[in-house]
Order: sequence, then structure tokens, then C-alpha cells
Amino acid sequence: MADVYTRAERSALMAKVRGRGNLTTEQALAKLLRRQGWSGWRRQQAVRGRTAAGERFQVRPDFVFPVRRLAVFVDGCFWHGCPRHGTRPQGNAAFWQAKFRRNHARDRRDMRRLRRAGWQVVRLWEHELRPKARGRLLAKLSRLFGRTRKSPARRPG
Ligand SMILES: [Zn+2]
Repeated sequence: MADVYTRAERSALMAKVRGRGNLTTEQALAKLLRRQGWSGWRRQQAVRGRTAAGERFQVRPDFVFPVRRLAVFVDGCFWHGCPRHGTRPQGNAAFWQAKFRRNHARDRRDMRRLRRAGWQVVRLWEHELRPKARGRLLAKLSRLFGRTRKSPARRPG
């Protein structure tokens, strides 16, 4: 499969390599939500809870809709190993493989914890925010908001 990134895009991607957030894609989603008039969200707000074993946890989704109890993650195609664009760096394969595996394990764990705590969790790929994919993303989000708008899942605590 052809490399979807130009050299410039790839170096911009590699420059973003600090931490987990991908500001550009998060900003794109924030802009989209505003334009659609979908409100009630916060960015990077911590969700706290307890695991089944009673252990405290804290998860920081990219977007939370507290009233709807909806958490949205925007996953960078590179960091989260998108099956379409998750190209692997050439050098240091073992290091990267371990890194991606840890990211994936953490994603799964956070999702499980949120769901057990009564949150609906949605993961979006960075590539879903590209202009070409916009129509499909809007349809997906509309379904989501349409479903949760009328009866937000309110739970005690
Ligand atoms: Zn992708």
C-alpha cells in the first residue's frame, strides 16, 4: 500500500512525538463539533473511577461529554497503529514494536475501565478527520448524538 504521507507530513508527524496527544487532529474535531453546534464537551478532562477490584483509576479521553457520559478518543494513525496508515519506523524495530504494543494495551485498558464505569466510548482515527472523509464522519457522529441526545445515560456518582 502506498505511503499516504508526504515527506513534509511525515516530519510534522514525527515532530509531534511528544506524549500522546495529537493536537492537530483534536483541534480539527473541536472545530467540527463547534460548527455542528454539538456542545457540552470538554477536552482532556479526567474521568475518575474504580475498577472492579476497587482500585482507583483516572483516564483522560481527548473529549468528554459529561452529561451524556460519552468519551471520545482521537487516535493518531501512527501512534495507535492504524491498519491503513500505521507505518512502522525503519530503525529500532523492537523498540517501536514494544512502544506500539504498550499504547495499544493502555488504550484497551482505558476503554474497558470507562465502559465498566458506565461510559460510552468512541474511538476515531486521525484519518477519519481528513477533509475527504468528513461526510462519513459527520454521519457517524450524527448517529451518535442523535441516539444519546434525547436520553443521556445518567448514572449516580
Ligand atoms: Zn489511518
